[in-house]
Amino acid sequence: IITMEGVVKRFGETTVLDHLDFQVAKGEKVTIIGPSGSGKSTVLRILMTLETIEEGMIHVAGKPLWHEYRDGQPVPASEAHLRTMRKEMGMVFQQFNLFPHMTVLRNITESPIHVLGLSKEKAVRRAHKYLDLVGMTEHAEKFPSQLSGGQQQRVAIARALAMHPSIMLFDEPTSALDPELVGEVLTVIRRLSEEHDLTMLLVTHEMEFARQFSDRVCFFDKGVIVEQGPPEMLFTEPREARTQEFLRSFM
Ligand code: ATP
Ligand code: MG
Repeated sequence: IITMEGVVKRFGETTVLDHLDFQVAKGEKVTIIGPSGSGKSTVLRILMTLETIEEGMIHVAGKPLWHEYRDGQPVPASEAHLRTMRKEMGMVFQQFNLFPHMTVLRNITESPIHVLGLSKEKAVRRAHKYLDLVGMTEHAEKFPSQLSGGQQQRVAIARALAMHPSIMLFDEPTSALDPELVGEVLTVIRRLSEEHDLTMLLVTHEMEFARQFSDRVCFFDKGVIVEQGPPEMLFTEPREARTQEFLRSFM
């Protein structure tokens, strides 16, 4: 469902992604691990169209992301094309990024109403469905400041799901949380992965969770995938010295 071929991303002099090739199959649960600055967030931000690319091709759900075809020739994507592509993806950030001045319910109904054109009734019904899924039904009328970090993050997950994306992107969804709140968010993500055939792409440092959750784990370093494979392989017998060294720092 995602193909990235030869993707190059630079910030000024720094090459952050260096001819990256990366594929994700429909329904696959993929975890990205790697040291700080290796380009993990950049990959998700590019897919979310929050960052552009300098070189390479990306396809999502069979359609090009950063270009479109006119008369068989690739041309840069129009804003309208990017808007359409954005609907394929939902993203959950490290900082929960809820709208502080809106109730939980309005946080979730806002985009389905204004971007997808749902009626208010339909959007509210949909919001309750996902609030129920993340166990936040009784908090619908609260404001984000009245919730714990774990609760805010579960609302952020419900908000992304309410747009019915085909791909969910998670960028270190638990690393801003107090340790005792990490579990409740991981439980929601695990339930999602077990009960829905969503494609999921997760950046995390929670290795034990990655082991249980993932079909495949990719180790990023310096803007390329150094090594990837099923978690039982990558975690127990990594082939590359760089992967071994990185994993040792978590023991
Ligand atoms: P972390 O584990 O710390 O979140 P990461 O793997 O997610 O790291 P990225 O955020 O993708 O790393 O950043 C990769 C590199 O790109 C870093 O060297 C970072 O400093 C640089 N970078 C990211 N965003 C920008 C930006 N907007 N402007 C300039 N440099 C940036
Ligand atoms: Mg990051």
